Amino acid sequence: MTKRNSILYLTIIFSLLALVLIYYSASFIDREVDSVSFSGERAYADVVTQVEMGNRVSGSAGNEQVRQWMRAELESAGWDVEIQQTERFGHPIYNVIAKRGDEPAQIILGAHYDTRMFADNDPLFANRSLPTLGANDGASGVAVLLELARTLPDDSVPVWLVFFDAEDNGRIEGWDWILGSRAFVEEIEINPQAVVIVDMIGDANLNIHLEKNSNHIIRSEIWSTAERLGYADVFINTEKYAMLDDHTPFLEKGIPAVDIIDFDYEYWHTLADTPDKVSADSLLAVGDTLWHWVVERGQ
Ligand SMILES: [Zn+2]
Repeated sequence: MTKRNSILYLTIIFSLLALVLIYYSASFIDREVDSVSFSGERAYADVVTQVEMGNRVSGSAGNEQVRQWMRAELESAGWDVEIQQTERFGHPIYNVIAKRGDEPAQIILGAHYDTRMFADNDPLFANRSLPTLGANDGASGVAVLLELARTLPDDSVPVWLVFFDAEDNGRIEGWDWILGSRAFVEEIEINPQAVVIVDMIGDANLNIHLEKNSNHIIRSEIWSTAERLGYADVFINTEKYAMLDDHTPFLEKGIPAVDIIDFDYEYWHTLADTPDKVSADSLLAVGDTLWHWVVERGQ
């Protein structure tokens, strides 16, 4: 090999190395841009944050703390936040409503942020008088809604994100289920085309069946979006349960509503409903599906 040839070869090798480096840095830049899309990891961190606040039972210190935190997260994502303050059966209720702009909501996405006062399904009798931590039953739905707040494009159809208080104290003296969403439907003027509730959607082994009472047209729209995105193993296309949940008051008023829920969760209303039972992948499957469903509704 001549000296000139070896210089030529070295030049080619270094040029190729430089190209590889440029390609890698460009792919990192792409990933930065991608951070505007739904992140399961960020949603999972929000589950952990909520559980670290302790229980969020309606009327508790944790309930107020999570409400202030949600407001701050929503406002820093560019949403206007209103608190609907009311009461049922003498219990104060605070629903958190996030909007962008003054247009009436075409889509309402909802989740409950309170946790249950008693872990009455816990296998240990002594635990049944203690409150749950609600990593899946409470925090998972809130986490998906907050991550949608950060990532939904602001030219989407008008969306409200509603965080309901006092969902989870049914079958307890002096309380009932879904007090917050009932109060919302009774007191707030709305005429949305669709309401979608997410509840218990963080289970690491996530199997969401069609909920029987849900609006059939909207639920099949959401299930086909999920299938197209590759989540057919999570959104299972058969009916299983009929639920009383935060979608119920909307349905009773004739508003099309869907409940997205995986009710097969062995830690339901136990002290073991903790973040280790929840996965970022599950939160992503639901969040990514809803992100696309909302964005495509505006097209
Ligand atoms: Zn519950």
